[in-house]
Amino acid sequence: MLAGAHVVTPTGTVKGGQVAVEGRHLTGASPANAQVIDVSGHWLVPGFVDLHNHGGGGASFSGTADDVQKAIRTHRRHGTTTLVASTVTDDMDVLVRQAGLLSELTEQGDLAGIHFEGPFISPCRKGAHSEALLRDPDPADVRKLLDAARGAARMVTLATELPGGLDSVRLLVEHGVIAAVGHTDATYEQTVQAIEAGATVATHLFNAMPPLGHRTPGPIAALLQDERITVELINDGTHLHPASLALAFRHAGAHRVAFITDAMDAAGIGDGRYLLGPLAVEVSDGVARLVEGGSIAGSTLTQDRAFKRAVTVDRLPVEDAVTALSATPARVLGLYDTVGSLDPGKDADLVLLDENFDVKGVMRKGDWVVRPQLG
Ligand SMILES: [Zn+2]
Repeated sequence: MLAGAHVVTPTGTVKGGQVAVEGRHLTGASPANAQVIDVSGHWLVPGFVDLHNHGGGGASFSGTADDVQKAIRTHRRHGTTTLVASTVTDDMDVLVRQAGLLSELTEQGDLAGIHFEGPFISPCRKGAHSEALLRDPDPADVRKLLDAARGAARMVTLATELPGGLDSVRLLVEHGVIAAVGHTDATYEQTVQAIEAGATVATHLFNAMPPLGHRTPGPIAALLQDERITVELINDGTHLHPASLALAFRHAGAHRVAFITDAMDAAGIGDGRYLLGPLAVEVSDGVARLVEGGSIAGSTLTQDRAFKRAVTVDRLPVEDAVTALSATPARVLGLYDTVGSLDPGKDADLVLLDENFDVKGVMRKGDWVVRPQLG
């Protein structure tokens, strides 16, 4: 039993609260012989859920099984207890092979599934994806990736305005896979059509899409205004101006915002030369850019930093930041029954933070990933 913390629950923060863990689950009752750990002065929040993440710890989800495990371990130490592995644009054969590997790790419970980012994206908004390997979202190709993922595909980012885009959205919805609008050059009207077809997520809102214009509101207005859409935001201070983040957050509300990392290999490590899929990336001062062209190439963010920034720089209420890092992404994934809050019966996934919002402990399914060193 962890006692004495500010416990952030779906209905508010309980000061001097307690959370009991039995086996791999949270429990409402506190067993008579429970070991009590005093965590006074700390915050206890649910484990973070990342919908969009390409790697960390010097390794990527486009690499070997060892690479994938290394990236998972890195993000777990920063509080991410539920993680969807994102691929980047590559040859279909390469993606099919990688989907096989990532689906095994999903079956083992190490990952919460696969997010395919590309190749079905717009050359006009390609960001750090190889232009030569982009293709239109032909439903047959989308299907190929879903099949290769053997039930582990959770989300596909696509430019829905391209030929086959809306049919692909419908195909994804039929298979219970999230259709995410992103890396898109769609107009406002085209984006509304995509939402009507069943798209439910905006891939890193603002980034890799046309800006909000007064006569051309574009995807941003369409995605922000629709209650059915959850918007991903990269809260690293580089991808978004704080005012843009605040605007989106205020408009959509915490129940429709998922703070993602979009992290690449350098997350949890630091500056240097890396690869993002097939492309070379230079990380300097924590900002990842393509060596060729200088596009921002993912982030070096971890979710604990996104959380700390949200409460200390963006001045969001702790409860809203927690919602955007755990409950909302868990709901998007259909996993809110088991993760995303500190309700009894759910998986014992939790993060312990000190008064400065720095991670002091991480528990996943009842096991300490980071064991708190207290007193
Ligand atoms: Zn990404």
